[in-house]
Amino acid sequence: MESTESEPADDHGTSVTARGKDAGGDGATAGPARTILEARDLNVYYGEEQALRDVDIEIPEKGVTAVIGPSGCGKSTFLRCINRMNDLVDAARVEGELLFDGKNVYDDDVDPVALRRKIGMVFQQPNPFPKSIRDNVAYGLKVQGEDVDEETIHQALERAALLEEIDGRLDESGLELSGGQQQRLCIARAIAPDPDVLLMDEPASALDPVATSKIEDLIEDLAEEYTVVIVTHNMQQAARISDKTAVFLTGGELVEFGNTEKIFENPDHDRVEDYITGKFG
Ligand code: ADP
Repeated sequence: MESTESEPADDHGTSVTARGKDAGGDGATAGPARTILEARDLNVYYGEEQALRDVDIEIPEKGVTAVIGPSGCGKSTFLRCINRMNDLVDAARVEGELLFDGKNVYDDDVDPVALRRKIGMVFQQPNPFPKSIRDNVAYGLKVQGEDVDEETIHQALERAALLEEIDGRLDESGLELSGGQQQRLCIARAIAPDPDVLLMDEPASALDPVATSKIEDLIEDLAEEYTVVIVTHNMQQAARISDKTAVFLTGGELVEFGNTEKIFENPDHDRVEDYITGKFG
């Protein structure tokens, strides 16, 4: 399918606006999406070691952006910069800017706890708290001192495609659920505070194929309402569910960013093609 993208590539060869799956569609719904996340000259170090190098990227609002690349190329580091999870790593040092809705999340006046409410995160291993399903979902709001009503809990569970399966069992421990259900509970926990962005770090890699497929379907649904940024080592998964793909390669360099179809079918960079076709060293 031909891309209808008309924006010029920037000097890193990245395209920054039109959504991959919409581009080349009926044309009526496609259009430049607003940028919600932007990295400018982002460099991250762990002590002496540099994990991200001069990263510039503009991620559009809504849809799924996949972050792919070989192990150790900085994918998780990039994700953790977005909601300042790297603050929790003593050795980590961040230089440059990471803008959320145009505001640098590293500005002194940004409260990381409030930021993480707007930019939720889901990890590789489902990690519900040893609490009831209800308390798990309510957690993010409660830490902000808010009362949580039953409707909010139900809505979050419904959006996470879990309500039907666990209705009436809200007082059972979250740890009683299957792995796939636990991961959807973690997604419900992340969306209960009504975030704008969901960061997902290999959210399905610990799950069996059926549970993975459910999570992928859910991610596509969630992307109608939220901006999803997902790290995955599974290239088929990236190709299946993402609109945009960012390819990081060794050394923490963002080598190419663009519509997923283009990245997988006709990337601009030989190194990206080699990686995607498995020729990468
Ligand atoms: P990826 O997610 O692509 O596998 P990471 O972001 O986890 O890559 O890691 C990028 C680089 O940063 C790697 O060399 C890794 O060893 C290093 N790194 C990641 N986390 C830490 C940490 N907490 N302390 C020190 N080095 C780290």
